[in-house]
Amino acid sequence: MPDGSLPPSPPAGAPARPLRDADALAAAGLLPAAGLPALRAVAARYAVSVTPAMAALIDPADPADPIAAQYLPHPAELEATAQEREDPIADAPHTPVKGVTHRYPDRALLKPLLACPVYCRFCFRREQVGPGGGVLDEAELEAALDWFAAHPGVREAILTGGDPLMLSPRRLRHIVARLSAMPHIEIIRLHTRVPVADPARVTAAMAEALDTETALFLLLHANHAREFTQDARAALRRLSRAGVALLGQSVLLRGVNDSPAAMEALLRAMLANRVKPYYLHQLDRAPGTARFEVPIAEGRALLEGLRGRVTGLAWPTYALDLPEGQGKAPIGPDFAERRDGGWQVRGPLGGDHFQPDAPPPA
Ligand SMILES: *Cc1c(COP(=O)(O)O)cnc(C)c1O
Repeated sequence: MPDGSLPPSPPAGAPARPLRDADALAAAGLLPAAGLPALRAVAARYAVSVTPAMAALIDPADPADPIAAQYLPHPAELEATAQEREDPIADAPHTPVKGVTHRYPDRALLKPLLACPVYCRFCFRREQVGPGGGVLDEAELEAALDWFAAHPGVREAILTGGDPLMLSPRRLRHIVARLSAMPHIEIIRLHTRVPVADPARVTAAMAEALDTETALFLLLHANHAREFTQDARAALRRLSRAGVALLGQSVLLRGVNDSPAAMEALLRAMLANRVKPYYLHQLDRAPGTARFEVPIAEGRALLEGLRGRVTGLAWPTYALDLPEGQGKAPIGPDFAERRDGGWQVRGPLGGDHFQPDAPPPA
């Protein structure tokens, strides 16, 4: 598809607009009418949106559909467990000005809005995100950008939210231009689900807004191979043509990508679209998300099974964001163990190897 043309419209019969409540989802045949009262209560508590692109992927006849599991409201969302927290990774105490989260010395988050194309049922910011919620007005956005300008130690601006690709190309172009003009900003990073969840938003104007001299990385959030539709592929191609580097991040989710086949297909679908897998996140314990959690031991075994069998390009860092805002820690499988005088290393193709320490310099 040449740059400038819009991606094809959703298939015939698909809804034309996002489905934003339980009744709309039931009317589209995606939710059974029987459970509606309970699901209306869920939707009143946590934002709901299923884009036409994602609705078209759901098989309503499959009760275990991995796309449905990510987006359709579920009665269990109102059952919080004792270990779940409203701000699981403690963003709030690290907010110097509205819209900025600063936790690591060399990088900080900029959250220009809290709207998303779809609302994931496992979102760790589910208490904050929603349509229309938390948009920075002009003055607040300038104040947030001024904060970046005033912090030369911060080399990387990470746009997240919400989903920054929900901004208009004009607004996005302004943010990218202001950050690019700061000599100390070496990297602009943008976390988004838009290229898969609402690929029609990735217009030529959007790609052009991201075309800048500063290194710009787009972190695509995708959790299942099926999300890479023809339209999603075209959107990603448009971004890569604009010089945007593509990285992938996923959440390990029960019933979505917790089988070896589903995880392998996801990582391979990313790579086939020039998206290098970056993080596989352990689920953050946000309220009402317990049904998605996969034990860490299982996540490690899942990755271990891929090592050696699947291209090394597919390997993500399996990470847990520590609850008190202490940062993301890698929790993936270990292949090396300290022994007397050296390291015992397991070979991914089978067989162990003892690597003795080098003799000290004479
Ligand atoms: C996740 C996160 C980052 C980015 O961390 P990386 O490990 O560099 O991907 C930066 N700041 C905050 C506050 C974060 O939560």
